[in-house]
Amino acid sequence: MSAIDDLPPLRDVIRSHGLSALKSLGQNFLLDLNLTSRIARTAGTLEEMTVFEVGPGPGGLTRALLALGAKHVVAVERDARCIAALNEVAAHYPGRLEIIEGDALATDFAPRAAGRSCIVANLPYNIGTPLLVGWLSAEPWPPFYESLTLMFQREVAERIVATPGSDHYGRLAVLTGWRATARIAFDVAPSAFVPPPKVTSSVVHIVPRTVPLPCDRRILERVTEAAFGQRRKMLRQSLKSLGVDPLALLEAAGIEPTERAEQVSVEGFVALANAFTALRTGKVSVSL
Ligand code: SAM
Repeated sequence: MSAIDDLPPLRDVIRSHGLSALKSLGQNFLLDLNLTSRIARTAGTLEEMTVFEVGPGPGGLTRALLALGAKHVVAVERDARCIAALNEVAAHYPGRLEIIEGDALATDFAPRAAGRSCIVANLPYNIGTPLLVGWLSAEPWPPFYESLTLMFQREVAERIVATPGSDHYGRLAVLTGWRATARIAFDVAPSAFVPPPKVTSSVVHIVPRTVPLPCDRRILERVTEAAFGQRRKMLRQSLKSLGVDPLALLEAAGIEPTERAEQVSVEGFVALANAFTALRTGKVSVSL
């Protein structure tokens, strides 16, 4: 393993600070700085960036981000035991690492973003999806970040990047596809982590669309919730729970009543959301 900085190896950091991994905090640490550098490089050029990191832990990814030239890293860590280790990284890169001891779910990065920003994290698996949904739901849009580079369990990564027709396609893929483009950059084997998780992980790279198709996010979520809540049923059945005539809704959106949720494109769901709004406000009349 080549050194990326003059700091001690992560194994020594973990030992000297007593950072035995806690399952309750989703702690699976990456000790290979070549691998953390690969994740950091996936985010693109970092020189002008403020990078927000969730869960720096012993600091493997944080060190890679700083070594690769990130202008400023803001890292939110819930585990108080990690703070002393992270302070050593901060001392090595004066003025470039800000450590926040706190809960990322309760931390709004947007007000701290000055200039160009991105988010890079090896996420704790138990809060990965709510964090992603929160970032994709940011208002106003386009958001404060230029990209998200995030480690998820492979199964979650597949749900994020899924396209219509796939078993993984669902509410998460529609929200992601509406607001962004997403790809799986590479997989990471369980053996790369300490302790190893049960399943393979994937690094996902997400770039926000500057102008997503116009629709109200909450309505889009209502429609996808109804459609995928009964994903094996035809839409004329599953959309009944919305409380409007499903046939009128589908006709207004230009979608066949016999289609199932997993066949409908992001554009189709946007059309459904807009038709739902129009029907409720009486702005369309559909002949049946
Ligand atoms: N970034 C480190 C690495 O790659 O080795 C650690 C990644 S580990 C998968 C997840 C980290 O998130 C842990 O350090 C854990 O303590 C932290 N964490 C868990 N829940 C958190 C929360 N709600 N807010 C902030 N950090 C959290």
